[in-house]
Amino acid sequence: MDALPQRGEVGGLAALEARIARDLALIAYPEPRWVPERSTAAGERMLDVLVVGAGQGGLAILFALMRDRITNVLAIDRKPEGLEGPWRDFARMVTLRSWKTVTGPDLDIPSLTFQSWFEAQWGAAAFAALDKIPKDLWADYLLWYRRVLSLPVRNGVELVALAPCREGLVASVREGARETSITARKVVLATGIETPGRWWMPDVVAALPARFRAHTGDRIDFAALAGKHVAVLGAGASAFDNAATALEHGARVTLCCRRPQLQRVQPYKQLSYAGFFRGFPHLSDAERWRWMNHLLSLREAFPRETWERASRHAGFTLMTGAPWLGARIRGDRVEIDTPRGALTADFVICGTGFEMDVAAHPALAPHAALIATWGDRYRPPAGQENPRLARFPYLTSGFALTERVPGGAPWLADVHLFSFGATVSFGPSGSSINAMKFAVPRLAQALAADLFVADAEAHYRALVAYDTPEFELPDALLPDATWHGECTPMPQPSPGRDACSDAA
Ligand SMILES: Cc1cc2nc3c(=O)[nH]c(=O)nc-3n(C[C@H](O)[C@H](O)[C@H](O)COP(=O)(O)OP(=O)(O)OC[C@H]3O[C@@H](n4cnc5c(N)ncnc54)[C@H](O)[C@@H]3O)c2cc1C
Repeated sequence: MDALPQRGEVGGLAALEARIARDLALIAYPEPRWVPERSTAAGERMLDVLVVGAGQGGLAILFALMRDRITNVLAIDRKPEGLEGPWRDFARMVTLRSWKTVTGPDLDIPSLTFQSWFEAQWGAAAFAALDKIPKDLWADYLLWYRRVLSLPVRNGVELVALAPCREGLVASVREGARETSITARKVVLATGIETPGRWWMPDVVAALPARFRAHTGDRIDFAALAGKHVAVLGAGASAFDNAATALEHGARVTLCCRRPQLQRVQPYKQLSYAGFFRGFPHLSDAERWRWMNHLLSLREAFPRETWERASRHAGFTLMTGAPWLGARIRGDRVEIDTPRGALTADFVICGTGFEMDVAAHPALAPHAALIATWGDRYRPPAGQENPRLARFPYLTSGFALTERVPGGAPWLADVHLFSFGATVSFGPSGSSINAMKFAVPRLAQALAADLFVADAEAHYRALVAYDTPEFELPDALLPDATWHGECTPMPQPSPGRDACSDAA
């Protein structure tokens, strides 16, 4: 599309924000806050839910909870405000890969969609002309979403450890040089797509000195690569985006792909229907494993514009069928062995994704032996073994971690995971824009149910003690007075029908 008109030329955000306030007021039922306050033995007020990570997932979870009047909640994020998530960090694409009409954080409220936000500033014609959503605009939208909903977020606060305490969970956090703790009844880890795991590169590359290599999830000084030869490993969208960024900075790039052909079919597209999102978590373990073994064994394809962005440069070379078998430093360069011959580069970038490993998450690492993975819970039939799938955590229907040994760590039921780590249990769910409208409400519903059930006795006592009359009667009529006025006769059942069928 052509350059956007100046913001504010059309409509304006003020009118949209008024509409949002009205929309939320119209669906505010039921309004009472209902979660009883809890304090620690030391008298500190506990949070009902601590959300770790204020990217799109963490924000949408806060919103969903607040709609259910669970308001004693907080999200923390280690990054500064506006820099959460990958968008202004290591996401090196120009636009989102999703289609522009994707909804998610809005949780089905039309005035909160990206499209509404965009049209309020640039108009409907500009949206019609938009191809895909520029990633910086997506980051701007998320920031606005947080502001317009007054979501409670504290930036610059990092979770460093998590442990059970008598009253719930205690999160040790670092805020600048200060270490402190937050107690909460529930903790949701919305800490990014690789949670709980790590960005992964083959051992032969990891063994190289750090100044010769990077992962696409790292910060990279692309300006320093001008005039150099960069070898990129991987054939996913991020590998291509990093190759394109290096080319745009004047590097020459050879992109090596392990498989004989590029993956151009996007299987996730085929799965973008409501029945799958809603129904997949209800399949048996054997079925979920079978589906995810197929899905996660395929590479995700990337869109046409990603291919064109890299391939239009004369300095771009694609080598298929070229896994890296070995690598070493020769002089001041990296020499790489591939089945198609040796390759020499000044710098290498791995677009090789991430691997699940509960022990790689700093807050979960000390408890890793207690946490059940799919490998602990399910033994696949011959031919369907997949160690990669086996490392995914095995989650409850409410996204909570589960114990490897029953009774070993019951508190894990209060630690919920909203990331790609939920994929084998739920299919696309956490860390995915297009699954958000299904996954966030499911998580929020589970959190609300758990909080209610934990306090069911207190809620029951509140019901029994409830004695607020709907209207006042004159004192003379209380408590044993006789009413002398006229009564409205009770309706009589129609002939031939009993009272029950009339009532129905
Ligand atoms: C490069 C890239 C491109 C993508 N493009 C698309 C796309 O086009 N369409 C799509 O549907 N999906 C896309 N995704 C997938 C997904 O939508 C994104 O990963 C998205 O950012 C996930 O949102 P999130 O809130 O789960 O995690 P994030 O947005 O990553 O947010 C997690 C937050 O947690 C914080 N955090 C982490 N650890 C801690 C800690 N210990 N203490 C405090 N804070 C912490 C981080 O600072 C971060 O801000 C992409 C992913 C990547 C990596």
